Amino acid sequence: MMLQRKSGLMFMQFPALKAYPELLHGVFTRLGGTSRGAQASLNVSYGVGDGDTQVKQNRRQIAQCLGADRLVFARQRHGRRVWAVRDGAGRQGMSDVAPPIADAMVTDRAGYLLVIQVADCQPVFIFDPHRGVVADIHSGWRGSLKNVIGRTVEVMRREYDCRPANMVATIGPSLGPCCSEFIHYRTEIPPDFWRYKDNRDHFDFWAISKDQLVGAGLSATKVVVSGYCTRCRTDLFYSYRGEGETGRFAAVIGLR
Ligand SMILES: [Zn+2]
Repeated sequence: MMLQRKSGLMFMQFPALKAYPELLHGVFTRLGGTSRGAQASLNVSYGVGDGDTQVKQNRRQIAQCLGADRLVFARQRHGRRVWAVRDGAGRQGMSDVAPPIADAMVTDRAGYLLVIQVADCQPVFIFDPHRGVVADIHSGWRGSLKNVIGRTVEVMRREYDCRPANMVATIGPSLGPCCSEFIHYRTEIPPDFWRYKDNRDHFDFWAISKDQLVGAGLSATKVVVSGYCTRCRTDLFYSYRGEGETGRFAAVIGLR
């Protein structure tokens, strides 16, 4: 990933997505925002004990940084519901008055920047350059078990006429295999997934996501894993496992 600095913020971009001029995207680090304490400083979530004024200001800064005026947030619930974002969603996205419950968003509309909020869970971007459709997915370990990724590709196929072979996908900063120990995996994780476990009970959820994308029809060569582990890099990102009380960083993608 490439580190970028703009308008006082620091964010990362995938060269594989930056190659498309019609796309806007960025995984924002926690740096450069206005939140203090455990949420310092670019927290975008209203649900983690931060002040509303700070969150609103942080979201505004992100929109400004990307030159966008509409950010679209969902109420994430570790489920597999996909929200097809059409005209009217967002309204600057700053106040977040009860948006739909969803863990993935898809759109073909220009100017609607989809934002997933994470701290260890995987933010997954998908882009189909042929149909001009983007998706932003929140896939934590519960989402992985429910294959919210596969479900999103299905919605892109069915509702947007996309072909998985044309899609490019990226797996953003999240809990890496170095840090995803599941002591209670026998009760929490179905046996189908145990082959992703090493002998220290660490699971490779990046590999699971990659397999789910390929299983949905994407070419393995068009799936990029950032390789940044949030728990190892709390200097850049929030980590729920590493910090407990913390903020959520923003993974943003949309069409210009
Ligand atoms: Zn790690």
